[in-house]
Formats: sequence, C-alpha cells, structure tokens
Amino acid sequence: MIYDLSRAERQHRAISNEKPAPNLVPKRCTCGKAAPAKVLVQHGKCHACQLADRVATLEPGDADLLLFMLGATPHWPRVRWGYRNHYLVNRRDRAAMERLVAAGFARAGAVLLQLQYFHATEVGCRLAGLDAKRTRVALSLGARP
Ligand SMILES: [Zn+2]
Repeated sequence: MIYDLSRAERQHRAISNEKPAPNLVPKRCTCGKAAPAKVLVQHGKCHACQLADRVATLEPGDADLLLFMLGATPHWPRVRWGYRNHYLVNRRDRAAMERLVAAGFARAGAVLLQLQYFHATEVGCRLAGLDAKRTRVALSLGARP
C-alpha cells in the first residue's frame, strides 16, 4: 500500500519538490532587507549594504569625479549621461581615483604621457545614477581613451 498514494497526496509531494533550493530562500539582512541566504552566507550582508560599505570608503568629492568621468552632471540631460567614460587623472586627484578603483567604481586604463586614464565600472555607473541603457553606452566607451 506504500505506493498507492492518493492523487491529492501525489500533487502535494510534487509541489513540495518544487520549492527553491535552500540557499535561494530569502532571509533578512541586519538592515532588514530580504536577501538570498547564499548572498548572506558569502558576504554577511545584502547587496545594498555591501554597496554602502564601498561608498563609505570614499572621501568627500570622490564621487564627484566619478560623475564627471561619466558626464553625469547637471550640465547634461540625464538621458545623455554616460556619453563619455574616461578621466585623465592629474596628480591632485590621483588618490581619489585610487579610492574609486579600490571600491570597484573605476578601473585604470591606458597611460598617456605619464598620465593615467581611468574609466567607470558597471557599479560605478550605477552609483553615478546611470540607468541600464546609459550604463551599457558608458561601458562600451570605457575601453577607448
Ligand atoms: Zn542589508
């Protein structure tokens, strides 16, 4: 009689088997946001908290360089943000650019006459307020000085 399961019981078991894997079940980060358990186990916090930690490593003015790098400034309509993605660093902003790189918001590019180009990363574009479309544009430009 073990194999003589009722139709309802079979359906119930089928649905139980459809539950997501345990590491995809949402849990709560300490900030209160739901996050996949896998993310919490790997990083100890949700993506928003991880981003906040990275932003906290910047100093005042660093993010302005990122916005400038991407043309994400009030001089340009938001739909054009990301039309450029390069910044030729000078001695004065070298430390700021290195903090942006360390936080993952920018990466070093080519060297020109002992000056170093930098480009915003995908997360840097998002931090600057670019939408997905403008981020794609900016990243496609990043390789070129
Ligand atoms: Zn969080």
